Formats: sequence, C-alpha cells, structure tokens
Amino acid sequence: METYKLYINGEWVNSSTGKLLDVKNPSTDEVIAKVQSASEADVEMAVDAARDSFDSGVWSRLPPGDRSNILLKIADLLEKNQKEFIKLETENSGKSVKQVSGYDIPYTIDNIRFIAGACRTLEGKAMAEYVADGTSAIRREPIGAVGVITPWNYPLMMVIWRAFPAIATGNSVVVKPASYTPLTTLKLAELVENAGVPAGVFNVITGPGSSVGEQMARSNKLDMIAFTGSTEVGKRLSDLGSSTLKKVSLELGGKAPFIVFEDANIDAAVESAIVGGMVNNGQDCANSTRYYIQEKVFDRFVQRLKERIRQIKIGDPENPDTDMGPLISEAQRTRVEGYIKKGIEEGGRLISGGDRPKINGHEHGYYIDPALIYTENESSAIVKEEIFGPVFTILKFRDYDDVIRRSNDVTYGLGSSVWTSDITTAMRATRDLRFGTVWVNEHVVVPSEMPWAGYKQSGHGASLSPYSLEEFTYIKHVYFDITGKVRKDWYDQIFKG
Ligand code: NAP
Repeated sequence: METYKLYINGEWVNSSTGKLLDVKNPSTDEVIAKVQSASEADVEMAVDAARDSFDSGVWSRLPPGDRSNILLKIADLLEKNQKEFIKLETENSGKSVKQVSGYDIPYTIDNIRFIAGACRTLEGKAMAEYVADGTSAIRREPIGAVGVITPWNYPLMMVIWRAFPAIATGNSVVVKPASYTPLTTLKLAELVENAGVPAGVFNVITGPGSSVGEQMARSNKLDMIAFTGSTEVGKRLSDLGSSTLKKVSLELGGKAPFIVFEDANIDAAVESAIVGGMVNNGQDCANSTRYYIQEKVFDRFVQRLKERIRQIKIGDPENPDTDMGPLISEAQRTRVEGYIKKGIEEGGRLISGGDRPKINGHEHGYYIDPALIYTENESSAIVKEEIFGPVFTILKFRDYDDVIRRSNDVTYGLGSSVWTSDITTAMRATRDLRFGTVWVNEHVVVPSEMPWAGYKQSGHGASLSPYSLEEFTYIKHVYFDITGKVRKDWYDQIFKG
C-alpha cells in the first residue's frame, strides 16, 4: 500500500509529526493508501513556499505564453498517464469507471487546455486619455499566494478548476484536497513537477479541513482562498478570511430545479432527468434534484422515470457496465437516508428505492438505491436543502408563474433547467430563473469556455471561462502624465501657493 507525502516547495516530505490518515475505497470500505496529516508547521512551510515563490517573481513574471506552454505540457502528461489517473480516481471516489474515463478525465484535460490558452488573452481597457493631461491603462496582475481547498466529488477536476486559473495568471498556490479523495491531487503534483513548474508555485498538503483548512484561511501570508465545497464551510471560511480581509472566492452547493412544461418532449426530458439526477452517484452540485412537472404530463413523466430508474445498473465502479457506484462515505449514506426518512415524515410518498442494495464482493460499500419521492410539501427539507445523493424529488405545478416562484424559492442558485418546445416560455424562463446557469432542454452541460458560477448562497466568482482567470487577478490603474508641465492647471483648485 502506497504512503503519499506532502509536496512542498518542490520536495516530497513527511509530516513533521509523522501522523498518517487512511484513504478508503468507498465501494469496499478498504484502506487503499495512507496520506500525511499536515501539522501546523507543515502548513506554515507550504504557505511560506507559495509566498516566497510568488514574491521572487520566478513564475508571476514569466510571460503568459511561457506559463501557458507549461500548462499544456501538464495536459499532455495527464493524457499520457490517464489510465493511472482513471484507476486511482475510480478506486478512491467510487464513481463508475465509465464516467471517469468517458467524462471526468477527458473533460479535465480540455479544461486545462482551455485555461492554458485563455491566460494569453487576458486584457484590460485600451490605453486612453480619460482626462486631457494623462493616459490611463489597466494592468491585470496576479493576487499573490492563494490557498485552494477542494471537495471530494470531483477530486481532480475541482483542483484544475480552482488552482489552474490561479497559476495560469501567475499566482502561487497551496492546495488542500478533501480528506476522502486526496490521491489524484497528489499524483497531479508529480505531473506539475515534471512539466517544469518552479518549486514553491504549486504545493499540496493533506489533512483535516478543520485544522489545515482553517489555518490557511487565517494565515496573513495568503492573499486569497479559493474554496469549492459546502455552503456551511464556505460561510466559515468567509468569517475566518475576514480577519485579514483576504479575498475568499466561493463555489458552493446547489439545489437545481428541473422544470418540465406540458409541451416538452417528455421522452427527452426523462432521459436527461436520469442523467442529471444520478451523475456522479447523485453527488454533483448541479444534480437535478427538484423535478417540477406540469399537471397534464405528470403521470406520464413519473411512470417513465420510474421505469428508467429501475434500469440503472448499480455495482462495482470498476466494471465498465456499472452506471452508479457507492456514495463517498458511510456518513454521506446516513445523511442521504436521513433526508429520505425526513421527506416521508414531512408528507412525501416514497415511490421507489431508498434501500441498501446487496452488491456481490462489495458488501461493505456505501451503496444506496436511487429514491423517487413525490411530495406536495414545498417547505419539506427534501425540497429546500442540498441532499447530495440520488434522491429524485417530484413535484407538480400548475402554470408558469407558480413554477418559477417555487423554483427560485431556495437559498441556492447554481444550476437549473427548463423543458419546453415553446420559445417564448424558454426565453422568459432564462430571464426569470435566479441561477448561474439555465439549461433549455438539457441539464448538466458546462463547456470549458462558459462560466460555472453561483447566485445567492451557491457562492460567488466563477469557474471555467475567461471569468475564472479574472477571479485570480487584481486590476491596477496606471496613469502617465503626458504634459511634462511643472504645474498642471488643476493644481490651482487645491493649492495656489
Ligand atoms: P465540504 O465538507 O465543505 O469540504 C470541502 C473542503 O473543505 C474539503 O477539503 C474539507 O476538508 C474542507 N473543510 C472542511 N471543513 C473545513 C473548515 N472548517 N475549514 C476549512 N476547510 C474545511 O464539502 P464536500 O462535502 O467535500 O463537498 C460537497 C459540497 O461541495 C457540496 O455542497 C457541493 O454542492 C459542493 N460543490 C460545489 C461545486 C461548485 O462548483 N459550486 C462543485 C463541487 C462541489 P476535509 O475533507 O478534510 O474535511
């Protein structure tokens, strides 16, 4: 069994305390690797490495094209080593190998290539004389040393989404992956090193968020925290970051509505509903979770959805036929089961699923059957809160105003979708839904070129797209006097002497 080290200042080192943490395979509950539990001194060392490398200019002063070439090399190395990454991500996260090999890894490679290209195109306003005596210009500059804290649901992809726009724009980073899934982030550090990123620019430390993550948020040597994870922890990081007024960029939870009008193509909507609800074993911030179905097509939609849910193949994530693996942990399974129970207590009717399936050879895995629940209780926890598991909550709606009001009536605002064949309904809904993404007749698609951003308590800032690069830059106004005069006319308005 491999024991991974911390990657600090270009060196692979053990934690100063020698303390190790187990990393498990969620489909078997077996320990598959050990990682270091970073001590306070280790965190300090990683922060210093990021700080010093940034201040030295060894990376931040490279022309964007040079940084871009190195990132492209990382993408090539990832492509070359993808088999190893696919195996590791599947084993550590419990996602199906079908999803990891067909989507997660190829898409992540595309994300890196996009970021590498986009960092060469960042620009400010054109130089101009906004007052007669001088010329103004805008410089975009890296923010500095950035702490990046990532979740377990897309372990490798989330590091790319947050740490790569940061380094592409010249920042140095300390990355802390989720404790359940640190392995591909540590492997990525090997590629970063081999591609020629200078020591100290990209550091990876592992350990509990409650100690390591909080120390990062408090540190006065880090200029920014980029966090992807739960809204609860996002709020905590906002509080901690305020002591140094560091920038805290937050990509948080979601509770996506999936709105099906009676004029929609119902078969297409059901196919997408399945994928939107169960992708990543139901642990995706964009998962369709609230299915609002118009009265006239309600029975047809639910009947078809029930049939299709029954066909989902749950099993060994490493089997190429498996559609859905386990949840990430026993704690997560207990949480999801708790929501199903609460949904029923609050008036919901369980139509199917919600049990623990028996998977041969994986009896200790954290499996759960996707649950389909109908409820008329709009204030039930299964309608309002992020469950983060394969729970399909079905609701009925009357008309446009009714469904838009209910869809918006949550604290989250990340993804949403609307299904209709009427262009007017579609256009109105894209305006009226208060979410960072509105899909029309689709759900979950996010091209590398488009922003992934939240409204309300889903956070602020953006991943992907050129906006993700802007997120990691300051804007600086630079002003040049163009008169050469000893005294400019406007000085008299202040001091005539
Ligand atoms: P989480 O519990 O908030 O943990 C995320 C990260 O924060 C982990 O690395 C965790 O470390 C760390 N952490 C935990 N407590 C901390 C603290 N007090 N201070 C600093 N860091 C702390 O989230 P998760 O359960 O891993 O991920 C699921 C959540 O992420 C869902 O809410 C999902 O919607 C959200 N998500 C959002 C997006 C998006 O783009 N908006 C994308 C993916 C996921 P440990 O693992 O050591 O606890």
